[in-house]
Amino acid sequence: MAEPIATKIKQFGVYTTKDFFMGDYLTKLPTVETLAPRDDCCNIFDSKDLLFLAGILSNKLESLWIYKFEKNNRSIFLLEKDGLFFHPFYHTPIIPDENTKFIRKIHLRLIRSHFSNKFYPYRRLIHKNVASGYKNYHEDILEPVKLVDDKFIHHLFDQKFLDFDLSVVVPPGYAICPYCSIVKPFVQINSSADITWKLLVGRKYGYVLCPHCLGEFASRLLSMS
Ligand SMILES: [Zn+2]
Repeated sequence: MAEPIATKIKQFGVYTTKDFFMGDYLTKLPTVETLAPRDDCCNIFDSKDLLFLAGILSNKLESLWIYKFEKNNRSIFLLEKDGLFFHPFYHTPIIPDENTKFIRKIHLRLIRSHFSNKFYPYRRLIHKNVASGYKNYHEDILEPVKLVDDKFIHHLFDQKFLDFDLSVVVPPGYAICPYCSIVKPFVQINSSADITWKLLVGRKYGYVLCPHCLGEFASRLLSMS
């Protein structure tokens, strides 16, 4: 794997990953017991548990459906194949009982689109700005982002996910990227142009990013005028 971008960038600003909310689901892989996003989002399209979503997407078959059920007032998500139900990516058989109520079917395609929007907003932002001629980026951060045929913008689902059967212990300050495995995230600050601050619409955002693929683990508004 290439040298992480973070080692090349000298100026991070005063923020560290401790200034952001980093959920437990960033440092642990889902287990065979995990049947729903671990941030308790009953709507899978609000979830930030990207490892759970990536697990579902590691099913390469195009025509898969994910079934949403409710059991004891909690949502669970199962994979359906030929009328049988399985864990959405460990593929252990699961038989819904009488307490399990079917809610709806979700096509894999929709989960893909949500995952891509949630995990790569920063990479997309760079791509969009560079494509429109905006040059205010450190050149090292631009290096992995390609205007044409970008690995994680144009060909995201051709990339291989990490091995979900991996037993990993994640050291403090590290997180699990669905593509790059265990990484030390770095903080990137993005401020709107000077003129916006004078016009009282200035915004400064912070992003906690994977140093290899610029996937986003957390982000928040840091200040505004
Ligand atoms: Zn990554």
